[in-house]
Amino acid sequence: MYQSTTSNPVDKIKQIKWKQAWELQNGNADKTQFSCHICCDKKIVVKKEGNKFTADDCKCLEQKKLKERKQKEQKKYENSIKAAEIREEFEGKTFDDFQWLKGKKEAKYAAMDYVDNFDFYQSKGIGLTFVGKCGRGKTLLSHIVSQELLKKDHTVVNVVAKEFYDDIKATYDDPDKKTSDLITSAKEVDLLVIDNLNAQRFGFDEIDKLFIIINHRIENKKPTIINSTCSLDSLEKKLAPDHVSRLIGKNGDPIQISGIDMRKKHGEAITKLRQQNIGKLKNKTI
Ligand SMILES: [Zn+2]
Repeated sequence: MYQSTTSNPVDKIKQIKWKQAWELQNGNADKTQFSCHICCDKKIVVKKEGNKFTADDCKCLEQKKLKERKQKEQKKYENSIKAAEIREEFEGKTFDDFQWLKGKKEAKYAAMDYVDNFDFYQSKGIGLTFVGKCGRGKTLLSHIVSQELLKKDHTVVNVVAKEFYDDIKATYDDPDKKTSDLITSAKEVDLLVIDNLNAQRFGFDEIDKLFIIINHRIENKKPTIINSTCSLDSLEKKLAPDHVSRLIGKNGDPIQISGIDMRKKHGEAITKLRQQNIGKLKNKTI
């Protein structure tokens, strides 16, 4: 609590300031104009005791500090991991952009639940594992989760497994380059999303390097979302049994995304549009 005596001129000014804040906070002003209704954006809450005023930090100050700290961290992570930026095609996407289609509903529910209850899942280090063929919507869904959590002031790094591995490898290969920033960021971030962890295409060394990070996160209760085109069976065949059991032990059973191929559907729509346009053009030129 801040206190002041009226004998000191600096304190006198403070008392005047606090009096004004108290009057604003306890007056009839329309509070909806302020982002914090408690302190009216003064960041302190003033109490009146007799003729003297005392002030405490408002809760929103802590929230503001936390928000600023998280934004700073997010920048640091994005700077140290090249592949971390949200891909342009997924920028600004929300759950409204993910249709309730057959084969995809359960995954959408799981993702929505994950965002709603992230504080719980984060405290336990629980992530998600999405499996399904190409084009079924795994990447879109995990980008939506990422962006929803960024809005809630969590830090998120979203990487494609292959590019991420290349980044890691480059730092190992170049002794002058610091591995620490990249690895530390990947270990520390609130949520790490690894897209396209397709065991078939990876060698042992690649899987191993990625799992050093994943294991570290599991051990330190940091959630990871994994997207893979592999079925659970082929994951088990390709990865070490320990890796798979750790992943399932932490994220629960992989969630299947199936149904129509969204890319194919998109491609068909483009073909149709083009045919219509060409049709119009032909009619004009005849
Ligand atoms: Zn406040």
